[in-house]
Amino acid sequence: MYVQALRRLKRNPQLFIITMMGIFGVLGITPYIIYRAYNTDFMVAAADFIAVVSIVTAVIYAWRTNDTVKPGLYLSVIFSVVATLVTINLGINGFFWIYPLILFNFFIITPTRALVTMLAVLTSLVIYNIYEPGSIFTSNYQMTSFLVTCILASFLSFIFAYRTQHQHARLEQLAAHDHLTGAYNRRVMTEELRKAAQDRRSGRDYGLLILDLDHFKRINDAFGHSAGDQVLMDFTSIIKSVIRESDMLFRHGGEEFALLLPDTNLKGLNTVADTIQKTIFSKLSSPAGVVSVSIGGATLTDNDQWEDWINRADEQLYAAKAMGRNCYKIAT
Ligand code: GH3
Ligand code: MG
Ligand code: MG
Repeated sequence: MYVQALRRLKRNPQLFIITMMGIFGVLGITPYIIYRAYNTDFMVAAADFIAVVSIVTAVIYAWRTNDTVKPGLYLSVIFSVVATLVTINLGINGFFWIYPLILFNFFIITPTRALVTMLAVLTSLVIYNIYEPGSIFTSNYQMTSFLVTCILASFLSFIFAYRTQHQHARLEQLAAHDHLTGAYNRRVMTEELRKAAQDRRSGRDYGLLILDLDHFKRINDAFGHSAGDQVLMDFTSIIKSVIRESDMLFRHGGEEFALLLPDTNLKGLNTVADTIQKTIFSKLSSPAGVVSVSIGGATLTDNDQWEDWINRADEQLYAAKAMGRNCYKIAT
């Protein structure tokens, strides 16, 4: 159990942050509640108490559901409100909490949301100070220094978080796609087929086609590998131009592709296979002339494991090749 928990923390940095905040929150804030209640600073004590309860709730939720977005947003709002209230009540002693708040927000919510949140916190403090002059800031100089440093820290955090977000998206894109054709890779294929097989229990239809270019080796042998590569790229873009947004194309192997079609029954799968086979034959060419494709297909049936499903489609592909290629066969 411990090993499993550690593995989850290692894999999910957001869960790690939320958990760390949980530990720090409970250990770090609880003494303040007692201290402030003792000093009859009840408003701050109540704010701290709400913070502790919220943290614990969010941590439990994140661990139970594996969703860190909602608890992250929730914690961010709670912490921002609490930090604002604490600063209003304590003045300069509350200032220090705004800086870790900036870091936390930019780590746990989207950069734009974090920026808006921080601007809201700072604006609230300034407005409060305008209504009750001297209640938070003892001088305009102090207020200016505080605002400038907070805005600078927020701005730098924004750039950092924004860049990280982009790099993350780029890495995900790289990890999910085949770099030559841009189709999804085999890893994503297994994941998606497995998900579809699970989803089948809700009664949804799924179709699968396995597409293999005919005599592809001849193109490579006669005109070189790069001519072959170009054909693979052209093949992918033709397929993408005829499929729906929800369909997913995977590069299954060298010149073999898989196409997953949600909400597609046997009749629909035959129609798509027919369209693809004809479109490829009329549009795909290589220096060696026309290129054709053989297609095998199968719909997902109840109690199918994804391996059974893809094997059935594969058998049909072999049958299509045996029938002389440039045709499709769908399991009935
Ligand atoms: P069949 O009609 O029976 O499918 O014949 P085929 O020649 O298409 O099939 P075979 O499996 O014999 O050959 C597949 C070829 O695809 C062999 C391999 O060199 C080539 N290949 C695999 N990956 C790539 C790639 O990324 N680029 C290029 N240019 N060729 C590739
Ligand atoms: Mg082939
Ligand atoms: Mg092949």
